[in-house]
Amino acid sequence: MSANQPLAQPSPTVAVIGSGPSGCYTAQFLRKELPGAEISIFEAMPVPYGLVRYGVAADHQGTKAVTRQFDRMFERSGITFVGNTRIGVDIDFETITDAFDIVVIATGLPDDRALPIPRDEGAHVIGAGKLLRTLNAFPEEATVSSAPLDEELGDDLIVIGQGNVAVDVVRLLTKPAHHLTGSDIHDRARDLLRPTPPKSIRVIGRSPAENAKFDLAMLRELCGLDSIGIDVEGLDDSAQGAVAELLRQAQRQPAVTTEDDSTGRTRVTFHFETVPTAVRRDDTRTVLDVAIASGETKSFAADAVITAIGFCQADDDRDDVPVAAWSGAHVYRVGWLDRGGRGNIAENRKHAQTVAKTIVADVAGGVIPHGAPGLAAIEPHLPLTTVGFAGWQAIDEAERRNADTGRCRRKITDLDEMLAIAHATS
Ligand SMILES: Cc1cc2nc3c(=O)[nH]c(=O)nc-3n(C[C@H](O)[C@H](O)[C@H](O)COP(=O)(O)OP(=O)(O)OC[C@H]3O[C@@H](n4cnc5c(N)ncnc54)[C@H](O)[C@@H]3O)c2cc1C
Repeated sequence: MSANQPLAQPSPTVAVIGSGPSGCYTAQFLRKELPGAEISIFEAMPVPYGLVRYGVAADHQGTKAVTRQFDRMFERSGITFVGNTRIGVDIDFETITDAFDIVVIATGLPDDRALPIPRDEGAHVIGAGKLLRTLNAFPEEATVSSAPLDEELGDDLIVIGQGNVAVDVVRLLTKPAHHLTGSDIHDRARDLLRPTPPKSIRVIGRSPAENAKFDLAMLRELCGLDSIGIDVEGLDDSAQGAVAELLRQAQRQPAVTTEDDSTGRTRVTFHFETVPTAVRRDDTRTVLDVAIASGETKSFAADAVITAIGFCQADDDRDDVPVAAWSGAHVYRVGWLDRGGRGNIAENRKHAQTVAKTIVADVAGGVIPHGAPGLAAIEPHLPLTTVGFAGWQAIDEAERRNADTGRCRRKITDLDEMLAIAHATS
């Protein structure tokens, strides 16, 4: 080759499994760095974007708007969306690794982490992820482990956790309907879960206020709701930091301060340095036993306990996708699957960039042999019900068109209906 001849651009074939932010950002970075690459994103659901659609709270449309840039990516960058195709169920993982030079697994962490304490059979314990999926209109029959909730939560609730997901839960259960204008909340599900606002919510966590993981902006938004009154327990006068300050201030507002509240507001009590020790079933109620910093123990009775303590891999026996065992010399992992259920969308973007850089370096260094055929080799194996990007656009358009008054979309919860709309376009 002469010195003046340009170096040939490597053009590997890339499969990304999972179309949440980690998968989409990785594809976006790879497209930039490897313009000749053939990139396909496989997604289990007929619709893309993972937890941006089914996790991020319905009243935070600004956050959900990140999907617009991913839509543009599919429209303009020649990246192929292969929806309604669950790798490990519809197509073997090995078929994918054989067909593509590079495989990026970005399947996230779908299940709520269980409370690691003794729990009575029949205690009413619900994962926050499941609750927020329900309020985000997750399709009923999508997977065994993620079926939405279908019963009333009750008047007195306990939320365990000191992060933003706990705040999302409290806010969405207490926010007055008129503050949900512009959202795409699943109104039927919210009415079923809480026909009236809860009377009390205890937010319980083991950390002192200065170590709680609540984002200040999220907490401020919650404290600003006129539908709740704030109380705090386990916050001594010496507690420092912005969370302690904010809650002290919120507590001072004329608010609900007695058990026999007559204001109609939900009494939200933050408990710090409070460690759950057991969940019991007591007649019709669920009781949470806790140990507090002083060494005392207490018990709180509630109608339901909602856990917001993180996420984990789905139980393989139920959903039959052994993601943990997926590996290979040209296989990479990104996002929540790799880092655990921590970090927001921006952190996944950073991680995607790092993983994309590693891939590009491996390609440049000859670590990854290329020449695998890519999507063409997979097409004969694709289920007939696969949804392409045009199919997603048709679903998106139908959801927006059918939005109820005051809502930005009405999400379709029936998978067959989604597929019918998607396939009518093709
Ligand atoms: C309740 C909740 C609220 C949140 N709110 C915010 C917020 O307000 N702001 C913020 O920045 N972050 C928020 N986050 C965090 C954010 O959603 C995550 O950081 C991000 O979605 C993780 O991205 P991911 O791509 O790793 O996983 P995911 O978003 O979970 O995407 C994984 C994708 O892989 C697909 N998949 C799984 N298995 C397969 C398979 N076998 N084959 C094909 N596809 C598969 C899934 O269907 C899914 O689409 C929230 C998270 C939760 C749970």
